[in-house]
Amino acid sequence: MEKRELLYEGKAKKLYTTDDPGLLISEFKDDLTAFNGLKKASEAGKGALNNKISTELFKLLEQNGVPTHFVRMLDENHMLHRRVDIILIEVIVRNIATGSLSKNLGIPDGTVLPFTLVEFDYKNDALGDPKLNDQHCLILNLVNSFEELDTLRAMARQVNDILRPFFHEKGLNLVDFKLEFGKDAQGNIILADEISPDNCRFWDLQTGEKMDKDRFRQGMGGLKVAYEEVLNRILGDNGTI
Ligand code: 5GP
Repeated sequence: MEKRELLYEGKAKKLYTTDDPGLLISEFKDDLTAFNGLKKASEAGKGALNNKISTELFKLLEQNGVPTHFVRMLDENHMLHRRVDIILIEVIVRNIATGSLSKNLGIPDGTVLPFTLVEFDYKNDALGDPKLNDQHCLILNLVNSFEELDTLRAMARQVNDILRPFFHEKGLNLVDFKLEFGKDAQGNIILADEISPDNCRFWDLQTGEKMDKDRFRQGMGGLKVAYEEVLNRILGDNGTI
């Protein structure tokens, strides 16, 4: 399957059409951005790591009954996936308080939440991705009904119920993550985008070390080594999950 026309260039990926109108190709870039694009860098090999990590996690989720846009990994930096209309809601799942939750609500960093929190952010860089409640989502026509929001929440919890124990077994604490969903040609809601250390927080269970994009956000260095370690933990000893 070949790339044809560049449809869209985002901060971490480029999206191309293919000869099949129902399929697109994502190219995972080495670029890193934070604070709504204010901090920028590039890390050679980061795109390939995120492509591989996302591939393994989409396969794991599909095996466990979560519908995703994933079709197959094409090569180091390219993934073939179904074409969906992206729902402009970032679905944030949190098991442990940190980041903007700690900052905005004063919950001490590292507090284990009494239950998994699911939040919605508006996927809108110009507005700085503000928080949404259900009524905002309907008023902005981001979804068609309150039921669709319940579907997003249920699917996000299902993803967490699969990934959290999976990573725990690998010695990683899945602290929080961001998901994006889309609608396929039939209007079904399916998981889209990517699942990688660019949009998840992983803390090593033993040492508490951050193994994700916070290393870049906080200027800690060692980002590629951390992403490689996440991939190696996912793959386990024999190179497959
Ligand atoms: P926070 O709201 O604390 O900044 O982020 C919560 C979680 O969602 C983190 O795992 C973070 O990586 C992810 N996240 C939230 N918004 C974005 C975003 O706009 N882009 C990316 N890549 N991840 C996000």
